[in-house]
Amino acid sequence: MKDKIVVALGGNALGKTPEEQLKLVKHTAKPIADLIEAGHEVVIAHGNGPQVGMINLAMEVSSKSDAGTPAMPFPECGAMSQGYIGYHLQNALREELLNRGIKKPVATIITQVIVDKNDKAFEKPTKPVGAFYTKEEAEVLKETRGYTMVEDAGRGYRRVVPSPIPVDVAEKEAVMDLVKNDHIVITVGGGGIPVVQEGNSLIGVPAVIDKDFASEKMAEILDADYLIILTAVEKVAINYGKENEKWLSDLSVEEAEKYMNEGHFAPGSMLPKVTAAVKFAKSKKGRKALITSLEKAKEGIEGKTGTLISQ
Ligand code: ADP
Ligand code: MG
Repeated sequence: MKDKIVVALGGNALGKTPEEQLKLVKHTAKPIADLIEAGHEVVIAHGNGPQVGMINLAMEVSSKSDAGTPAMPFPECGAMSQGYIGYHLQNALREELLNRGIKKPVATIITQVIVDKNDKAFEKPTKPVGAFYTKEEAEVLKETRGYTMVEDAGRGYRRVVPSPIPVDVAEKEAVMDLVKNDHIVITVGGGGIPVVQEGNSLIGVPAVIDKDFASEKMAEILDADYLIILTAVEKVAINYGKENEKWLSDLSVEEAEKYMNEGHFAPGSMLPKVTAAVKFAKSKKGRKALITSLEKAKEGIEGKTGTLISQ
């Protein structure tokens, strides 16, 4: 059966340097091309943690130097990371598809994701970004730029930004039209550029939207059949890393919620994935979420492996 699938790529699908990333995306393109070749409609989302960190850090260092470059706001760094990662992904996927004789256009949409300016996350920024600073430098940044600076595990001071929940995707119509016309779209990169709405204006805010949540939102908007979260592990486990570790295959939303409440999933890594998977599976009957590794994507969609969460 032909399904509409939103594929969310994790850090292991990309790379930390441009050279590494250019090489890695060639591997990443293969399982995605498998899904396309099997006849599925595929939309791609991805993370950007290391990449936006690198861009932000480069911009901060450069602006502190004699080079005279301007300070680059965080949303702009996010936009740059979408372009940089999107370029590599669309380049690799286009080539992989052509190698298989498949002529489908692949395009990246610079995507703004709308967040609620009253989101509780804005009261308590949690995500460290960019360079380390001394106490004195941190004070200056607090004063001059209004940054929230926190001491990071004895390594110095770092800026923290909030992680709000995605509410809507500004470019959703463009994505839907392209998908309808059989294009392969790369969207909500890094969780999207976070913006708040003020009348007709969308204003970029320094924040990081979790890519697992943004992918889930996009999957709902597109009325997808599947949300596939590709990460470093083939399955989700309970008692992860312990002696009684157990890898899970099929999970009902109730079982998944029970395990979530019991604290089986690490907050910064697996918890957002399971939370997003449960939200998607609950949003409409028939919708399924699969968490598996990049290498096992094809077998996963064929029902042979991975952790499948459904109603
Ligand atoms: P991504 O870049 O794909 O978002 P993360 O590192 O954020 O990847 O999350 C995936 C990681 O979550 C896995 O590599 C694994 O180490 C970790 N993890 C934490 N808890 C669990 C669990 N209960 N089951 C499986 N993996 C888990
Ligand atoms: Mg992650």
